[in-house]
Amino acid sequence: MTSQNIRIDNLTFAARGERLHSKLPLTEFPRLCELLAHSKGESPEVRAPAPTDNGEVEFTLTGEKNALGQSFLHLVLNAHLLTTCQRCLSDLPLNLTLNFHYLVSNVDESALDELETEIGDDFDIQEVSQAMDVKLLIEDELILALPIAPTHEVDCAPVTMQSGEKPNPFAALKGLIKS
Ligand SMILES: [Zn+2]
Repeated sequence: MTSQNIRIDNLTFAARGERLHSKLPLTEFPRLCELLAHSKGESPEVRAPAPTDNGEVEFTLTGEKNALGQSFLHLVLNAHLLTTCQRCLSDLPLNLTLNFHYLVSNVDESALDELETEIGDDFDIQEVSQAMDVKLLIEDELILALPIAPTHEVDCAPVTMQSGEKPNPFAALKGLIKS
């Protein structure tokens, strides 16, 4: 099942102050899906997660043009993903809320430093495009935001020892600190 790409003319989108809001199943992001599946680790009972039940991504993209004529895009992502805890290997729901701000501009690298001091460095640059791929942007940002080795902050399931697996060295350390 493939759905349509979401493409915008990003300068026009910003100039008109348009807003785009949608909820997409994770199946729309194949590269991200693959990463989440890989994070099942090397546990022998790896099962391919049903592609429909391991998450969805809600996004809001807003355009803005300021008084100086600069064009901006603001992206809010709410992602509900299901990955695997790398400590106890049980399911780990991952809720990400992310905010991104982009200046739509065709600046070259040399002008970038100057620009960042001008508008602040919490902006990324998006090249001017009449067919900017919104899904691609969302997927890229989510992939960058994914923790490399996600673990439960609390409530890890009891660690099941598997052959060749070493006990967590930090567990012993914790005991030392307490005593
Ligand atoms: Zn865990």
